[in-house]
Amino acid sequence: MRGSVGNSGKKKTAVGRLFRLFRPGRPDKPARVATAQIIVSKFKRFLDWFRQPPYRKVKISSAILVAALFLYLLYQAVALWRNMGDPRNRAFWQWATGDTAVRDQLVTVQRETCPGAPFFLPTDGFIGLLYNDPRGPYSARNPHQGIDIFSNSAPGVTPVYAAYDGYITREDGWRSALIQRIPDDPLQPGRAIWLYYTHMAGQAGNSFINAAFPPGTREKFVEQGTLLGYTGDYNGNSPRTIWVHLHFSIVLDDGHGRYLNELEFANTVDPSPYLGMNVNYACAEDTAVCTPGCVIRNP
Ligand SMILES: [Zn+2]
Repeated sequence: MRGSVGNSGKKKTAVGRLFRLFRPGRPDKPARVATAQIIVSKFKRFLDWFRQPPYRKVKISSAILVAALFLYLLYQAVALWRNMGDPRNRAFWQWATGDTAVRDQLVTVQRETCPGAPFFLPTDGFIGLLYNDPRGPYSARNPHQGIDIFSNSAPGVTPVYAAYDGYITREDGWRSALIQRIPDDPLQPGRAIWLYYTHMAGQAGNSFINAAFPPGTREKFVEQGTLLGYTGDYNGNSPRTIWVHLHFSIVLDDGHGRYLNELEFANTVDPSPYLGMNVNYACAEDTAVCTPGCVIRNP
């Protein structure tokens, strides 16, 4: 009943008791009692309330839940703070939020080979995801197998060129990808390697590949600089939308003239020495320019 407010008539629920613990102190409390003592005593009363029935189990499980949530949020906050301290992540954020002019400053154009390097960059853009990159959607266990060069354009606009002389193959079902066999690895003569170019189609699967390479193309020779197609945002049947880009990777040969599975990191090679640019996540450079070698970044 609403009228029965006397102590004897009060319904002593666990929540009610908790609430009363933190109500303002009574006016007759001695003024000399230090605030710290009041806090300690209230905390003790809170612990007593916590340990005692009723609802002991509910109270304990709620506390565990709150602690877990707190730890999770703390972990996320620390991860975000660390991420934003990394210039590569700041550049990624700039690309994600900036307008065309801001993005333009992040674009690398390297149509000539860097000094001493055999390949050139197959398309202009922001090299946002690097080789060996553990950032999402990749991980330290399963890092990025190539480089993602993001286009400052709509799908189907930014050209993709052959990075080196070699033989183009396009498998029957490939809407967005080409693979190019280099019979003699210019940096490790005697072995064949393959250059894999993908995401050259629109979201709906409309291909942006040069009509000279229809599905079923086998071993068609092209020179370095030949137009292969245009960058796109095709991501197969995945519901995850992606930015317009070219994924470019160097894939090992099985020793019998076939390329290995390009999705396996172990089957790929660091493109840095081939491009003459530091495009390995472990390298110390923050922007991709012609550089002599990879200085390993501190972890
Ligand atoms: Zn990629």
